Amino acid sequence: MIRVENLSKRYGEHQAVSDVSFVCAPGTVTGFLGPNGAGKSTTMRMICGLTEPSSGQASVLGVPYRNLPNPGRHVGVLLDAAARHPGRSGRETLLLAAMMLGVDRARVDEVLDEVGLASAAKRRVGGYSFGMRQRLGMAQALLGRPGVLILDEPSSGLDPEGIHNMRMLLRDFADRGGTVLLSSHLLFEVEALADRFVMISGGRVVAQGARDELLQER
Ligand code: ADP
Ligand code: ADP
Repeated sequence: MIRVENLSKRYGEHQAVSDVSFVCAPGTVTGFLGPNGAGKSTTMRMICGLTEPSSGQASVLGVPYRNLPNPGRHVGVLLDAAARHPGRSGRETLLLAAMMLGVDRARVDEVLDEVGLASAAKRRVGGYSFGMRQRLGMAQALLGRPGVLILDEPSSGLDPEGIHNMRMLLRDFADRGGTVLLSSHLLFEVEALADRFVMISGGRVVAQGARDELLQER
């Protein structure tokens, strides 16, 4: 469960996020839809405690993200796939993360396989395409077997097969009771992936509801 209540963020004179509220329930994929600059990343960073809100609050599983014990075991986060040590292999990157999380090494190979990165696991991350970095970011998000996923533009850079794969993975995750919040600037992607949508523009929520209602909005 993710709960966002009246979240706002101001950078100097610029109001990046204004009074945003929504709830993501277990068993559902919520698509956070809006054009570039709408405030999606800022909102997600506030949910994960990486950006301090100007006002309002957010909770994950009933508490502020920062208060979660060993958050990686509860919440998988994909926020900035580009930020990785270029000299390490994908597998080394995940082995380090697994150590921090207290997750067994076998899980590393499991998630590499789940995201379709097994064959590239021994190559340096510096040589990865953007889509491969996204896959690695997704693998890392899944590593701690979390119940909640928070994913910022997870399909960017993925090829059609990668997108299909991710769609199946998220569907399965939600069908097992997981909670997913994913952002996208693409309407068709939210149609394809999400059960519910929250549409944001200029920092404000302009519509939210079930996917069917998204089709009616057009
Ligand atoms: P989105 O994720 O929807 O593309 P962002 O949340 O990244 O949107 O950005 C929302 C607005 O806030 C944009 O106008 C962006 O330039 C601005 N913004 C985001 N982060 C910062 C920051 N650290 N400092 C100043 N402005 C920011
Ligand atoms: P996205 O479009 O993927 O949401 P951005 O390119 O807007 O991401 O932002 C990438 C990073 O730069 C984020 O950490 C964001 O907070 C920061 N950022 C975005 N816009 C600004 C800005 N106008 N001033 C300072 N930092 C910014």
